[in-house]
Amino acid sequence: MPHSENADPIIQLGQLSAYIAHEVNQPLGAIVTHGEACLRWLNRETPAYEEAAASVQNIIGLGLRASEIVRSICSLATPSALQATRLELNDLVHDVMPLVRHDVSNHSVSLRLRLARGLPPLLGDRVQLQQVFINLILNGIQAMADIDDRPRELLIESCMETGGFLIVSVRDTGTGIAPEHAYRLFDAFFTTKRGGKGIGLAMCRSIIEAHGGIILAFNNAGHGATFQCRLPVIEATATAE
Ligand code: ADP
Repeated sequence: MPHSENADPIIQLGQLSAYIAHEVNQPLGAIVTHGEACLRWLNRETPAYEEAAASVQNIIGLGLRASEIVRSICSLATPSALQATRLELNDLVHDVMPLVRHDVSNHSVSLRLRLARGLPPLLGDRVQLQQVFINLILNGIQAMADIDDRPRELLIESCMETGGFLIVSVRDTGTGIAPEHAYRLFDAFFTTKRGGKGIGLAMCRSIIEAHGGIILAFNNAGHGATFQCRLPVIEATATAE
């Protein structure tokens, strides 16, 4: 199942403005309300400093939330420059394990690693690639959240493909991908989740492509879906340049 091509830019822009209007206007409105409340607490004959401080705390929290939203939109439009170093794919996978352990156990997921030995190194940005793996793992966990009639299993595999590509895949036993969603999964702002942002997979795609790789999604023969990243090994990256 190939990822979708970029949608019509006008539609994307429309989606973007609706997203910003919803996600950023809401905290901005709340910031103004808390700011006004803060002024009222301070302007009392006996200023209520504790209440004023609580309003300021709320303002800080809302400001951080709004700036996180703006940051994630900007990272989609202009992915930050790659801090590329020589990396071992399996080390990257091991490094994200502590970061997802909590979600794995909270959702009663059994997580298995099947990592090939002796893989060649790749040239990549450790933090950005970790972000991709975390996203894929959390998506897999979320796709299994409502599954109660079979085991919730997440399998992370790495291997080498002929042609100079390393492959890492995240396979779940969740809902799988509905055919009508298949071509939109990687589009920015596409989400089927209540409260979802639809940014994770778009960000994954832009990071993997910035590494000269590709990301694919397909349904498994049994249950669930697999998300697969193909990344060039160092030799292949060097020849491509
Ligand atoms: P969000 O998680 O905010 O919805 P994403 O860009 O990460 O944003 O995902 C977009 C959509 O892709 C999800 O809403 C879901 O419909 C689908 N999706 C992502 N991962 C999976 C998965 N492992 N199994 C089935 N569907 C998935």
